[in-house]
Amino acid sequence: MKAVVLRELGAAANLTLARLPDPEPARDEVLLAVRACGVCYHDIIARRGDLGPLPLPAVLGHEVVGEVLAVGESVTGFRVGDRAATLQRMSCGECAHCKANRNSLCKVDRRFFGEEIRGGYATRMTAPAMGLAHVPDSLSWPDAATVCCTTGTAVHVCRTRGRVKAGETVLVTGASGGVGLQAVQLCTHDGARVIAVTSSESKVNALVDAGAWHVVVSRDLAFAKDVKRITAGDGVDVAIEIVGSATFPQTLKCMAPGGRLVVVGNLDTGTFQLNPGLVIVKELEILGAYATTRGELETALELTATKKVKSCVSEVVPLADAARAHFRLENREIAGRAVLVPDAE
Ligand SMILES: [Zn+2]
Ligand SMILES: [Zn+2]
Repeated sequence: MKAVVLRELGAAANLTLARLPDPEPARDEVLLAVRACGVCYHDIIARRGDLGPLPLPAVLGHEVVGEVLAVGESVTGFRVGDRAATLQRMSCGECAHCKANRNSLCKVDRRFFGEEIRGGYATRMTAPAMGLAHVPDSLSWPDAATVCCTTGTAVHVCRTRGRVKAGETVLVTGASGGVGLQAVQLCTHDGARVIAVTSSESKVNALVDAGAWHVVVSRDLAFAKDVKRITAGDGVDVAIEIVGSATFPQTLKCMAPGGRLVVVGNLDTGTFQLNPGLVIVKELEILGAYATTRGELETALELTATKKVKSCVSEVVPLADAARAHFRLENREIAGRAVLVPDAE
């Protein structure tokens, strides 16, 4: 098979096209002919080594869809010819966290696709059936590829963790990226009013199209004043923090009393100083959000297939151009999502 291989952590240019032996599915796995794989900011952080060491050589890519070519002998629920999408990471399905539907907290099996399990920057991959969901026929491969990590994450962040309700005001930072655009759409669909923060004027139209009530363009990331003005001093009920340490202190200042601040991204993996007083007197809830459950992925695929939430795919590029796609994403040249598609072998 062909694969884009990372032999050494570091720059985008370290991603090179190579030939690898075809993988064989284990008992509990399926073999997929990869049809599309999203390029996620997570891949960039992993490639640089900022997530820690990866098993090298690595094949990145956790936003994978493909056609089932073969199934291991203990696999149920998938047959040859089925269309399947991967979750971001595995979970065991048996432990107390999994039984409580908190699969992101599972420690028994926390293998990540594209890391401990070779990923979708390839023409073929094997995947444990536990880590897959069925893709509706009406969804195109590129659209389906990004659903888990964008709309699926938005379902986890906005509904499951943020408990966003109709009539609430929601702040979304880093709103023009893959997760951001889907969070804006989903919260709007669910009846909330969304204030979207972006650092780039060129991304305003996409955010208005996604349903944002207000868009704040903030190059210096000092947006709390604008948010206070827009909400007549009240602040926001929920904040979806996608940027992380660079915006967190401002986001904290935007919160209404009793607000819920959901942290889902930390792009520069930085830290910041927190004044606990703000959290105390406003009785804020600060909530982490990580990955997507199979149920949330199915909900997200359904929301996309029924066009309640639009896909955020902005470009489809050949697998061989993975390094360039990384370079451009890192330099903020991609609004929405780029998807890699392999040539026929
Ligand atoms: Zn992703
Ligand atoms: Zn578990």
